[in-house]
Amino acid sequence: MIEIKTELTTNKKQKPDLNNLGFGRFFTDHMFVLDYKEDKGWHDPRIIPYQPISLDPAAKVFHYSQTVFEGLKAYLTVDKRVLLFRPESNFKRLNVSNERLCIPAINEELALEALKQLVAVDRDWIPSTPGTSLYIRPFIIATDPCLGVSSAKQFQFIMILSPVGSYYKDGIKPVRILVEDYYVRAAPGGTGAAKTGGNYASSLKGQEMASKDGYEQTLWLDGKEKRYVEEVGSMNIFFKINGTVITPALNGSILPGITRDSMIQLLKAKKIAVEERRISINEIVEAYHNGALEEAFGTGTAAVISPIGELKWLDEKIIINNSEIGEVTQMLYDTLIGIQNGSLKDEFSWTI
Ligand code: PMP
Repeated sequence: MIEIKTELTTNKKQKPDLNNLGFGRFFTDHMFVLDYKEDKGWHDPRIIPYQPISLDPAAKVFHYSQTVFEGLKAYLTVDKRVLLFRPESNFKRLNVSNERLCIPAINEELALEALKQLVAVDRDWIPSTPGTSLYIRPFIIATDPCLGVSSAKQFQFIMILSPVGSYYKDGIKPVRILVEDYYVRAAPGGTGAAKTGGNYASSLKGQEMASKDGYEQTLWLDGKEKRYVEEVGSMNIFFKINGTVITPALNGSILPGITRDSMIQLLKAKKIAVEERRISINEIVEAYHNGALEEAFGTGTAAVISPIGELKWLDEKIIINNSEIGEVTQMLYDTLIGIQNGSLKDEFSWTI
């Protein structure tokens, strides 16, 4: 077993109101830290009391965004077991992001072991009411105090935990989406397939404009022709057209979502036709006019599934399935939630 030093807090925090958790507002009593130096590699894995970090103002992460992150969840089952959902996939994706951002690879086995130990230490923070979970945020930052634009030689890998509320308080609800026709989230050759802060900073403007228009999320088109559908907010997107479920193929500017991959596997297991391919906004509009557009939904760790009730593209309002939740959308949601909270058999061995 990999040895991880543990220093327990002597000053436990008061737990927040479980009925009013929201997302990412409260943090547990402990955190995991791992340092990197060029001559030592990744070293000194430790669990310590949750605390602020002290960094030089010149640390590269503040200036050039050399940083990556992940997002996954731990769930408490009815019989009080703790389940992590596909955590190896998150650490694998973290290393893919690392490679793109010139950050040294982490040991995925160590990260998983550290996560298990951290969650065990803060186990009493995992909320138990339906739909709630413990959100896990691993991230890496470049800490070199040097303003030269070059890859850092010092990094810190940190994991923090946050009890989060149910994304949908009254069951899943369809959202309204504005198709963004000016700003783009990612471009060919850019960093869209990596989970790195800059992608999210640059998406804020489009999101803000969508909100001003009364829409909940932005649908991002490709950065080259602004024709092909890529992602919705910070979720992957699926359409059901004429009985076939279609999701944009991973093209280098789309984040390979772990929920996306799980949905594809679930659809195949249920013998529902699923295609990963390029899909243009014009094809969606055409399918809508022909009455072939049956369902649409976004997928991601936070919400699992967000059904899409309306898409606005230029002057056209596309209402999907009367703004009601589609059959396949509901089935996928119920199945994945059931596997995550331990009430359904995990035939895919996704949970640990
Ligand atoms: N796209 C983006 C841009 C995201 O930030 C996320 C959330 N991680 C997703 C898609 C969905 O990924 P996952 O299913 O792994 O949460």
